[in-house]
Amino acid sequence: MKDTQALKDFLDTPRKIVITTHANPDADALGSSLGLHHFLEGLGHEVKTIVPNSYPDFLEWMPGNSKVINYENNVEESNELLNTADLLFCLDFSGFARIKSMKEVASTVSAKIALVDHHLNPEITPEFDFWNDKAAATAELIFDLIEDYSGKNVITKEIAECLYAGVMTDTGSFKHNSTTSKVHRLVADLIDLGADVNKVSRLIYDTNSLDRLRFMGHALAEKLQVIEDSRVAYFVIEENDFNNFRLKQGDTEGLVNYALSIKGIVVAAIIIEREKEIKLSFRSIGDFAVNKFAEEHFSGGGHKNASGGMSELNLEETEKKFKELIESDILKTRSK
Ligand code: 5GP
Ligand code: MN
Repeated sequence: MKDTQALKDFLDTPRKIVITTHANPDADALGSSLGLHHFLEGLGHEVKTIVPNSYPDFLEWMPGNSKVINYENNVEESNELLNTADLLFCLDFSGFARIKSMKEVASTVSAKIALVDHHLNPEITPEFDFWNDKAAATAELIFDLIEDYSGKNVITKEIAECLYAGVMTDTGSFKHNSTTSKVHRLVADLIDLGADVNKVSRLIYDTNSLDRLRFMGHALAEKLQVIEDSRVAYFVIEENDFNNFRLKQGDTEGLVNYALSIKGIVVAAIIIEREKEIKLSFRSIGDFAVNKFAEEHFSGGGHKNASGGMSELNLEETEKKFKELIESDILKTRSK
Protein backbone atom coordinates (compact mmCIF):
# COMPACT_ATOMS: atom_id res chain seq x y z
CA MET A 1 0.00 0.00 0.00
CA LYS A 2 1.08 3.55 -0.53
CA ASP A 3 -0.95 6.26 1.14
CA THR A 4 1.26 9.09 -0.07
CA GLN A 5 -1.54 11.51 -0.96
CA ALA A 6 -3.34 11.00 2.36
CA LEU A 7 -0.05 11.53 4.19
CA LYS A 8 0.61 14.70 2.19
CA ASP A 9 -2.82 16.03 3.10
CA PHE A 10 -2.16 15.32 6.80
CA LEU A 11 1.29 16.92 6.67
CA ASP A 12 -0.14 20.05 5.06
CA THR A 13 0.40 21.87 8.36
CA PRO A 14 3.48 21.53 10.62
CA ARG A 15 3.12 18.44 12.81
CA LYS A 16 4.83 16.80 15.76
CA ILE A 17 6.22 13.56 14.42
CA VAL A 18 7.90 10.66 16.23
CA ILE A 19 9.79 8.03 14.26
CA THR A 20 10.54 4.71 15.88
CA THR A 21 11.99 1.37 14.87
CA HIS A 22 12.60 -2.11 16.27
CA ALA A 23 14.74 -2.98 19.31
CA ASN A 24 18.44 -3.66 18.71
CA PRO A 25 18.30 -1.40 15.65
CA ASP A 26 20.31 -2.51 12.63
CA ALA A 27 21.50 -0.40 9.69
CA ASP A 28 18.14 -0.61 7.90
CA ALA A 29 16.22 0.34 11.04
CA LEU A 30 18.45 3.30 11.84
CA GLY A 31 19.20 4.31 8.24
CA SER A 32 15.56 4.42 7.21
CA SER A 33 14.64 6.27 10.43
CA LEU A 34 17.31 8.94 9.98
CA GLY A 35 16.72 9.22 6.23
CA LEU A 36 13.04 9.93 6.92
CA HIS A 37 13.93 12.18 9.86
CA HIS A 38 16.02 14.48 7.63
CA PHE A 39 13.33 14.52 4.94
CA LEU A 40 10.48 15.42 7.33
CA GLU A 41 12.57 18.06 9.08
CA GLY A 42 13.24 19.55 5.66
CA LEU A 43 9.47 19.85 5.20
CA GLY A 44 9.29 21.92 8.40
CA HIS A 45 7.92 19.40 10.89
CA GLU A 46 9.10 18.84 14.45
CA VAL A 47 10.69 15.40 14.27
CA LYS A 48 12.05 13.08 16.96
CA THR A 49 13.55 9.64 16.44
CA ILE A 50 13.23 7.31 19.42
CA VAL A 51 14.86 3.87 19.38
CA PRO A 52 13.86 1.23 21.98
CA ASN A 53 17.46 0.55 23.05
CA SER A 54 21.07 1.10 22.02
CA TYR A 55 22.68 0.12 18.73
CA PRO A 56 26.25 -0.86 17.77
CA ASP A 57 29.11 1.67 17.45
CA PHE A 58 29.47 0.98 13.75
CA LEU A 59 26.17 2.79 13.11
CA GLU A 60 27.10 5.93 14.99
CA TRP A 61 28.56 7.64 11.91
CA MET A 62 25.09 8.12 10.46
CA PRO A 63 24.14 11.75 9.92
CA GLY A 64 21.64 12.65 12.66
CA ASN A 65 23.01 10.07 15.14
CA SER A 66 23.32 12.69 17.89
CA LYS A 67 19.60 13.45 17.65
CA VAL A 68 18.49 9.86 18.28
CA ILE A 69 16.79 9.33 21.64
CA ASN A 70 17.37 5.99 23.39
CA TYR A 71 14.07 5.07 25.07
CA GLU A 72 15.68 2.97 27.81
CA ASN A 73 17.77 5.95 28.95
CA ASN A 74 15.04 8.60 28.52
CA VAL A 75 11.75 6.98 29.43
CA GLU A 76 9.92 10.07 30.72
CA GLU A 77 10.95 12.39 27.90
CA SER A 78 10.15 9.71 25.32
CA ASN A 79 6.73 8.95 26.78
CA GLU A 80 5.91 12.66 26.75
CA LEU A 81 6.97 12.90 23.09
CA LEU A 82 4.96 9.81 22.18
CA ASN A 83 1.86 11.00 24.03
CA THR A 84 1.90 14.45 22.44
CA ALA A 85 2.81 13.41 18.89
CA ASP A 86 0.41 13.93 15.98
CA LEU A 87 1.98 11.17 13.94
CA LEU A 88 3.98 8.07 14.84
CA PHE A 89 6.05 6.46 12.11
CA CYS A 90 6.74 2.75 12.70
CA LEU A 91 9.73 1.72 10.61
CA ASP A 92 11.11 -1.75 9.86
CA PHE A 93 8.76 -3.61 12.21
CA SER A 94 5.07 -4.37 12.12
CA GLY A 95 4.24 -5.81 15.53
CA PHE A 96 4.54 -3.79 18.74
CA ALA A 97 6.27 -6.72 20.50
CA ARG A 98 9.40 -5.78 18.50
CA ILE A 99 9.80 -2.44 20.30
CA LYS A 100 10.09 -4.12 23.71
CA SER A 101 9.58 -1.72 26.62
CA MET A 102 8.24 1.03 24.32
CA LYS A 103 5.32 -1.22 23.41
CA GLU A 104 2.97 -0.18 26.17
CA VAL A 105 3.05 3.54 25.42
CA ALA A 106 3.56 3.38 21.65
CA SER A 107 0.66 1.00 21.07
CA THR A 108 -1.82 3.25 22.87
CA VAL A 109 -0.87 6.72 21.57
CA SER A 110 -3.53 9.00 20.17
CA ALA A 111 -1.22 9.92 17.28
CA LYS A 112 -2.04 8.63 13.82
CA ILE A 113 0.20 5.77 12.76
CA ALA A 114 2.21 5.42 9.57
CA LEU A 115 3.71 2.00 8.89
CA VAL A 116 6.74 1.63 6.62
CA ASP A 117 7.91 -1.95 6.68
CA HIS A 118 8.77 -5.03 4.64
CA HIS A 119 8.20 -7.86 7.15
CA LEU A 120 5.54 -10.50 6.56
CA ASN A 121 2.21 -10.62 8.40
CA PRO A 122 1.90 -7.07 9.75
CA GLU A 123 -0.02 -6.82 13.02
CA ILE A 124 -0.30 -3.03 13.07
CA THR A 125 -3.25 -1.36 11.34
CA PRO A 126 -2.00 2.08 10.35
CA GLU A 127 -3.77 5.21 9.10
CA PHE A 128 -1.02 5.64 6.52
CA ASP A 129 0.19 2.40 5.04
CA PHE A 130 3.55 1.97 3.26
CA TRP A 131 3.95 -1.74 3.97
CA ASN A 132 5.33 -3.91 1.18
CA ASP A 133 6.92 -7.30 1.77
CA LYS A 134 8.45 -7.25 -1.73
CA ALA A 135 10.82 -4.45 -0.74
CA ALA A 136 14.42 -5.43 -0.04
CA ALA A 137 14.69 -2.96 2.83
CA THR A 138 12.63 -0.41 4.67
CA ALA A 139 15.14 2.11 3.29
CA GLU A 140 13.86 1.21 -0.20
CA LEU A 141 10.32 2.06 0.92
CA ILE A 142 11.52 5.37 2.38
CA PHE A 143 13.19 6.17 -0.94
CA ASP A 144 9.89 5.42 -2.75
CA LEU A 145 7.94 7.50 -0.24
CA ILE A 146 10.23 10.51 -0.70
CA GLU A 147 10.22 10.09 -4.48
CA ASP A 148 6.40 10.00 -4.59
CA TYR A 149 6.08 12.83 -2.11
CA SER A 150 8.57 15.40 -3.43
CA GLY A 151 10.63 13.81 -6.20
CA LYS A 152 13.98 12.17 -5.58
CA ASN A 153 15.99 15.34 -6.11
CA VAL A 154 15.22 16.47 -2.55
CA ILE A 155 17.37 13.56 -1.32
CA THR A 156 20.54 15.05 0.16
CA LYS A 157 23.90 13.31 0.53
CA GLU A 158 23.01 12.68 4.21
CA ILE A 159 19.70 11.02 3.35
CA ALA A 160 21.31 9.07 0.49
CA GLU A 161 23.98 7.61 2.78
CA CYS A 162 21.45 6.61 5.47
CA LEU A 163 19.27 4.87 2.88
CA TYR A 164 22.23 3.26 1.13
CA ALA A 165 23.35 1.73 4.44
CA GLY A 166 19.89 0.18 4.91
CA VAL A 167 19.68 -1.28 1.41
CA MET A 168 23.28 -2.51 1.41
CA THR A 169 22.93 -4.41 4.69
CA ASP A 170 19.40 -5.80 4.25
CA THR A 171 20.36 -7.25 0.84
CA GLY A 172 23.51 -8.80 2.35
CA SER A 173 25.61 -6.46 0.16
CA PHE A 174 23.38 -7.06 -2.87
CA LYS A 175 23.58 -10.84 -2.62
CA HIS A 176 20.11 -11.87 -1.39
CA ASN A 177 17.25 -12.73 -3.77
CA SER A 178 15.66 -9.45 -2.77
CA THR A 179 18.30 -7.64 -4.88
CA THR A 180 16.10 -6.74 -7.83
CA SER A 181 17.01 -4.58 -10.80
CA LYS A 182 14.91 -1.90 -9.07
CA VAL A 183 17.25 -2.07 -6.08
CA HIS A 184 20.23 -1.48 -8.35
CA ARG A 185 18.47 1.44 -10.07
CA LEU A 186 17.64 2.92 -6.69
CA VAL A 187 21.24 2.54 -5.56
CA ALA A 188 22.41 4.18 -8.80
CA ASP A 189 20.15 7.12 -7.89
CA LEU A 190 21.57 7.23 -4.35
CA ILE A 191 25.09 7.38 -5.78
CA ASP A 192 24.07 10.20 -8.14
CA LEU A 193 22.58 11.99 -5.12
CA GLY A 194 25.90 11.86 -3.27
CA ALA A 195 26.18 8.53 -1.42
CA ASP A 196 29.82 7.57 -0.96
CA VAL A 197 29.46 3.78 -1.19
CA ASN A 198 33.04 3.00 -0.30
CA LYS A 199 32.83 5.14 2.84
CA VAL A 200 29.53 3.60 3.98
CA SER A 201 30.63 0.01 3.45
CA ARG A 202 33.95 0.62 5.20
CA LEU A 203 32.23 2.26 8.17
CA ILE A 204 29.81 -0.64 8.54
CA TYR A 205 31.82 -3.71 7.60
CA ASP A 206 35.48 -2.83 7.96
CA THR A 207 35.67 -1.38 11.43
CA ASN A 208 36.43 -4.54 13.43
CA SER A 209 38.11 -4.36 16.78
CA LEU A 210 40.93 -6.86 17.29
CA ASP A 211 38.80 -8.41 20.06
CA ARG A 212 35.92 -9.00 17.66
CA LEU A 213 38.14 -10.57 15.03
CA ARG A 214 39.71 -12.90 17.61
CA PHE A 215 36.22 -13.78 18.85
CA MET A 216 35.15 -14.69 15.29
CA GLY A 217 38.15 -17.01 15.02
CA HIS A 218 37.28 -18.55 18.38
CA ALA A 219 33.64 -19.04 17.41
CA LEU A 220 34.55 -20.65 14.07
CA ALA A 221 37.10 -22.96 15.68
CA GLU A 222 35.29 -23.90 18.89
CA LYS A 223 31.60 -23.03 18.70
CA LEU A 224 30.37 -24.17 15.31
CA GLN A 225 28.17 -27.27 15.43
CA VAL A 226 27.01 -29.20 12.39
CA ILE A 227 24.05 -31.59 12.18
CA GLU A 228 25.00 -33.22 8.90
CA ASP A 229 21.86 -35.32 8.34
CA SER A 230 19.64 -32.26 8.60
CA ARG A 231 22.11 -29.97 6.78
CA VAL A 232 22.03 -27.56 9.71
CA ALA A 233 24.94 -25.63 11.24
CA TYR A 234 24.76 -23.40 14.30
CA PHE A 235 26.71 -21.49 16.93
CA VAL A 236 26.01 -21.28 20.64
CA ILE A 237 27.56 -18.18 22.21
CA GLU A 238 27.76 -17.89 25.98
CA GLU A 239 27.68 -14.76 28.07
CA ASN A 240 31.23 -15.67 29.11
CA ASP A 241 32.40 -15.22 25.51
CA PHE A 242 31.15 -11.65 25.67
CA ASN A 243 33.23 -11.05 28.76
CA ASN A 244 36.34 -12.91 27.60
CA PHE A 245 36.51 -11.08 24.28
CA ARG A 246 35.13 -7.78 25.61
CA LEU A 247 32.42 -8.00 22.98
CA LYS A 248 30.12 -5.10 22.31
CA GLN A 249 26.61 -4.98 20.95
CA GLY A 250 26.61 -5.95 17.28
CA ASP A 251 29.87 -7.89 17.48
CA THR A 252 28.10 -11.19 16.77
CA GLU A 253 26.37 -9.79 13.69
CA GLY A 254 27.24 -11.64 10.49
CA LEU A 255 28.60 -14.70 12.29
CA VAL A 256 25.56 -16.81 11.41
CA ASN A 257 26.33 -16.32 7.70
CA TYR A 258 29.57 -18.29 8.08
CA ALA A 259 27.53 -21.29 9.23
CA LEU A 260 25.28 -20.92 6.18
CA SER A 261 28.29 -20.67 3.88
CA ILE A 262 29.32 -24.29 4.53
CA LYS A 263 28.76 -26.34 1.39
CA GLY A 264 25.54 -28.36 1.67
CA ILE A 265 24.16 -26.48 4.69
CA VAL A 266 20.63 -25.14 4.18
CA VAL A 267 19.75 -23.81 7.65
CA ALA A 268 22.00 -21.88 10.00
CA ALA A 269 21.41 -20.48 13.46
CA ILE A 270 23.10 -18.59 16.22
CA ILE A 271 21.97 -18.89 19.81
CA ILE A 272 23.23 -16.06 21.99
CA GLU A 273 23.05 -15.91 25.76
CA ARG A 274 22.22 -12.37 26.82
CA GLU A 275 21.75 -10.83 30.22
CA LYS A 276 17.96 -11.10 30.30
CA GLU A 277 17.07 -13.64 27.63
CA ILE A 278 18.40 -15.88 24.90
CA LYS A 279 18.32 -14.45 21.39
CA LEU A 280 18.23 -16.64 18.31
CA SER A 281 18.87 -15.78 14.67
CA PHE A 282 18.06 -18.08 11.79
CA ARG A 283 19.08 -18.11 8.13
CA SER A 284 18.19 -20.51 5.32
CA ILE A 285 18.79 -21.17 1.67
CA GLY A 286 15.82 -22.24 -0.44
CA ASP A 287 12.48 -23.55 0.75
CA PHE A 288 12.79 -23.93 4.51
CA ALA A 289 10.92 -20.93 5.96
CA VAL A 290 12.84 -19.83 9.05
CA ASN A 291 10.28 -17.10 9.83
CA LYS A 292 7.65 -19.82 10.41
CA PHE A 293 10.10 -21.80 12.50
CA ALA A 294 10.91 -18.71 14.60
CA GLU A 295 7.24 -17.81 14.96
CA GLU A 296 6.08 -21.29 15.96
CA HIS A 297 8.83 -22.12 18.42
CA PHE A 298 10.68 -18.98 19.52
CA SER A 299 8.11 -16.13 19.67
CA GLY A 300 9.77 -14.51 16.67
CA GLY A 301 9.44 -13.94 12.95
CA GLY A 302 11.08 -12.11 10.07
CA HIS A 303 11.55 -13.21 6.49
CA LYS A 304 11.49 -16.63 4.83
CA ASN A 305 15.31 -16.88 4.70
CA ALA A 306 16.27 -14.63 7.65
CA SER A 307 14.48 -14.51 10.96
CA GLY A 308 14.96 -14.29 14.69
CA GLY A 309 13.34 -15.03 17.98
CA MET A 310 13.96 -15.51 21.68
CA SER A 311 13.85 -18.11 24.40
CA GLU A 312 13.23 -17.93 28.12
CA LEU A 313 14.82 -21.34 28.78
CA ASN A 314 18.47 -21.54 29.77
CA LEU A 315 21.18 -21.90 27.15
CA GLU A 316 21.47 -25.67 27.37
CA GLU A 317 17.71 -26.21 27.21
CA THR A 318 17.39 -23.74 24.34
CA GLU A 319 20.02 -25.58 22.32
CA LYS A 320 18.27 -28.90 22.99
CA LYS A 321 14.90 -27.46 22.00
CA PHE A 322 16.38 -25.94 18.83
CA LYS A 323 18.10 -29.19 17.81
CA GLU A 324 15.02 -31.34 18.32
CA LEU A 325 12.66 -28.98 16.57
CA ILE A 326 14.86 -28.15 13.60
CA GLU A 327 15.57 -31.82 12.98
CA SER A 328 11.89 -32.76 13.09
CA ASP A 329 10.69 -29.71 11.09
CA ILE A 330 13.26 -30.36 8.38
CA LEU A 331 12.16 -33.99 8.17
CA LYS A 332 8.54 -32.82 7.85
CA THR A 333 9.33 -30.49 4.95
CA ARG A 334 11.34 -33.22 3.21
CA SER A 335 8.45 -35.67 3.39
CA LYS A 336 6.00 -33.17 1.87
P1 5GP B 1 18.62 -10.85 12.84
O1 5GP B 1 18.87 -12.31 12.90
O2 5GP B 1 19.57 -10.15 11.92
O3 5GP B 1 18.47 -10.22 14.18
O4 5GP B 1 17.19 -10.68 12.17
C1 5GP B 1 16.86 -11.28 10.93
C2 5GP B 1 15.46 -10.91 10.54
O5 5GP B 1 14.54 -11.43 11.47
C3 5GP B 1 15.20 -9.41 10.51
O6 5GP B 1 14.35 -9.15 9.44
C4 5GP B 1 14.51 -9.13 11.81
O7 5GP B 1 13.67 -8.07 11.69
C5 5GP B 1 13.78 -10.43 12.09
N1 5GP B 1 13.79 -10.71 13.56
C6 5GP B 1 14.87 -10.84 14.35
N2 5GP B 1 14.51 -11.09 15.63
C7 5GP B 1 13.15 -11.11 15.65
C8 5GP B 1 12.18 -11.30 16.69
O8 5GP B 1 12.47 -11.52 17.86
N3 5GP B 1 10.87 -11.23 16.30
C9 5GP B 1 10.50 -11.00 14.99
N4 5GP B 1 9.19 -10.95 14.70
N5 5GP B 1 11.39 -10.81 14.01
C10 5GP B 1 12.70 -10.87 14.31
MN1 MN C 1 14.79 -4.19 7.29
